[in-house]
Amino acid sequence: MNTANYTGRFAPSPTGLLHIGSLLTAVASYADAKSHGGRWLVRMENLDPPREMAGAADDILRTLEAFGFEWDGELLYQSRRHDVYAQALGRLKVMGLVYPCDCSRKDWQAAARAGADGFVYNGHCARLDPQRPLHKAPAWRLRTADETIAFDDRVVGRYAQNLARDIGDFVLLRADGFWAYQLAVVVDDAAQGITHIVRGQDLLVSAPRQIRLQRCLGYAQPQYAHLPLLVNAAGQKWSKQTLAPALDLGAKEQLLRQVMGYLNLPPAPTVNKPRDLLDWAAAHWAMANVPKTAIITE
Ligand code: GLU
Ligand code: ZN
Repeated sequence: MNTANYTGRFAPSPTGLLHIGSLLTAVASYADAKSHGGRWLVRMENLDPPREMAGAADDILRTLEAFGFEWDGELLYQSRRHDVYAQALGRLKVMGLVYPCDCSRKDWQAAARAGADGFVYNGHCARLDPQRPLHKAPAWRLRTADETIAFDDRVVGRYAQNLARDIGDFVLLRADGFWAYQLAVVVDDAAQGITHIVRGQDLLVSAPRQIRLQRCLGYAQPQYAHLPLLVNAAGQKWSKQTLAPALDLGAKEQLLRQVMGYLNLPPAPTVNKPRDLLDWAAAHWAMANVPKTAIITE
């Protein structure tokens, strides 16, 4: 495969510093891209300023560099792309695929049923005139259809959802004025020509929503590989909430060897610098060897 056929990416959110789980995603997405002779981009998903940690975006980039990662092309910051997201929402409005929702969370969640990823919206506003006077600044929701959306994940295998039943009409622009992850990620993956998405299994549940959006907006569907999560002995994902420690720059080689082990790469020889381990990972990469379910790290 040549470069034109593969563009991958790593898309951290600067809500915290990189930890061992982020390093696993970075190494796997990088090795998969480079083993295909592809490009590997980095996108800073700083959509949600209230949840951002001051200084995290820069720290993430410096940490990636320290571990020997080099990204191709320009770094994209989602915070600078409001106009592009607004354009996409505008196209969906013209097609009648989105509607304003001024329900209060309290109102609709009281009687809502649980779905695959939180409560399923009851569709109250879907049936109302979008031009009606609104009670408050609305959220904008995408209409879902009563149809199965299925795809073949390179790690997990076949994965399917019925969006109307499992998820419900979902938010693209939040009532507080911030763009939802689902819209931004689909618009940016298309804008950056991403052909292959390699990321954690916490996002598997989002993939059918993203495929629905790609279809509505006329974008190509990328290939997906959803990596196993690293969990502690209690089965909890490593994250800020479970106090995952930030990557220790004094132990770069050891940390890289650790995640390469989780990914079932063969043990690498002695190297001079972290970058040599990334090159080794790319040279010996096999997605088929990646474990399919959560990896316990303690
Ligand atoms: N920004 C997301 C995260 O850090 C990843 C989004 C994606 O890979 O689609 O969890
Ligand atoms: Zn509503």
